Amino acid sequence: MILTVNAGSSSLKVAVFNRGGELAEVASGMVARIGTNAVIKLTDDVRGETSGAVEARDHGEALARLIEALAPVWEHRPLSVVGHRIVHGGPNLHAPRLLDNDVVAELERLEPLAPLHQPINLACVRAVADIAPAIPQVGCFDTGFHHTMPWTQSAFALPQQFHEEGLRRYGFHGLSYTSVSRRLEALRPDLLAGRVIIAHLGNGASMCALSEGRSVATTMGFSTLDGLVMGTRCGQIDPGALLHLMRAYGMTLEELERLLYRKSGLTALSGAGGDMRDIEAAGTDAAESAIAFFAARAKREIGGLTAVLGGLDGLVFCGGIGENSARIRSEIVDGLGYLGLKIDSEANIANAAEVGVGATPILVVRTSEEEVIAEAAHRLTR
Ligand code: ADP
Repeated sequence: MILTVNAGSSSLKVAVFNRGGELAEVASGMVARIGTNAVIKLTDDVRGETSGAVEARDHGEALARLIEALAPVWEHRPLSVVGHRIVHGGPNLHAPRLLDNDVVAELERLEPLAPLHQPINLACVRAVADIAPAIPQVGCFDTGFHHTMPWTQSAFALPQQFHEEGLRRYGFHGLSYTSVSRRLEALRPDLLAGRVIIAHLGNGASMCALSEGRSVATTMGFSTLDGLVMGTRCGQIDPGALLHLMRAYGMTLEELERLLYRKSGLTALSGAGGDMRDIEAAGTDAAESAIAFFAARAKREIGGLTAVLGGLDGLVFCGGIGENSARIRSEIVDGLGYLGLKIDSEANIANAAEVGVGATPILVVRTSEEEVIAEAAHRLTR
């Protein structure tokens, strides 16, 4: 069995894949609200769905509880490898790697580049090493997909000494882009061979411009803050605004970090929280403005990424919002007829695989970071 581990800031998702024959998911689980009143939910092929309160003060404990709770799954089908989604591979780690001491040491050195997420990822690696030291672990890096971006897209116009020291645009959501690219290769290899934008719209959101299947530009940058508006993150912002917040409001580093990662984005605009389902249902002026803002930024990024690509052969939506919200897809595409993008209302409402009627195809593709992690873990330990 393969266990995949996908950690968010206050939640942890795992999945179990059977590695005999085709990789098949046999169980999944999550711990939400880690640190305060944590709850665990499990679905497996032995007991079906179970849930309840759980003691999990941090991500390491949450993972330990999930592995224990999956005991009936391991009984006849032992765990043989754990694969992790790791937010940052830095300038050197692109393809998935076995997590030996050297690789873990390099990932620890990268902590300052992703101080909110990398320590959580490494805590999960350590938790597995404590529970099952003999089990190999594999890391899959969310930045890795974008290592093909040219310098013009990855650099900041700052003194280049900073670039050498790691201050550059890395891009994220790489496992999702890998997953969607693989599905596109099967579904529409003609599109993948050309110029495509993939819009990963979830709680976190980004877009990637792909030329011949390789990332050439993406909306997230040095951190996961840049680009699109997100559930609680601001997206693109003028760095001068941050200087102003510090100077005029006396904001500390911690206050600024909390503002930008937790209290901004859809949460700040909608008056209905950061969850798109709630925002769509709210119907208030503020919620409608938040949707309009979300769509406007997305449109602007599509324009920019199309310019980088020199044209557009296909647009692909994925992620919780991208896969499920007909309204958001429609609002984003509205007005982009000049790129050959036009929504087919019926197909769009049905969340069909192809939702466009214009010259440029618009696809909805289910993404699975878990499958990408499981495949890498399987391949590296076969
Ligand atoms: P994460 O980035 O945490 O993996 P997901 O990809 O699961 O998040 O996306 C979560 C987002 O998707 C939430 O904003 C949620 O409201 C939204 N979403 C899920 N289903 C729908 C739906 N049917 N309509 C609108 N939004 C939806």
